[in-house]
Amino acid sequence: MNKLQKLNRELAKLTRVFEAASAVIKSDKIAVIRKCVIGCPACHTASQLKKWGFIRNYWYTRPHGDSEGDTWSPSDTKVCHLICPHCGESIYIYNHNQRDRIVDIVDNQGVSKDEIFATVWKKHGDNAAKQTYPAS
Ligand SMILES: [Zn+2]
Repeated sequence: MNKLQKLNRELAKLTRVFEAASAVIKSDKIAVIRKCVIGCPACHTASQLKKWGFIRNYWYTRPHGDSEGDTWSPSDTKVCHLICPHCGESIYIYNHNQRDRIVDIVDNQGVSKDEIFATVWKKHGDNAAKQTYPAS
């Protein structure tokens, strides 16, 4: 085996070790995030994030110029909603006293909403929310 083959083999081996360790750490991270407790301002019950629903709100832009059709854009997390697993109330994240923590978990931890919440929904304007996770 020449030196280049040996280095390639070492690199491949280290890559496999790194990927396996990364998968374990990400799985542990998801477990920690899912256990984070959020309080409900409506019923005053605290529940782990894994039991809450998340509603991604979308805002509408009229067709203009050469663009045709409706344009729906995803709202920032801070102006989305959570669904309390205890009372079912839709909670506006912006007014929640743990808003910054919720936004950090949802936006900055490299974890998808499907991996955090019990259910994930899309809501376009005033239309009824549609569940996207788990797929029905
Ligand atoms: Zn509640």
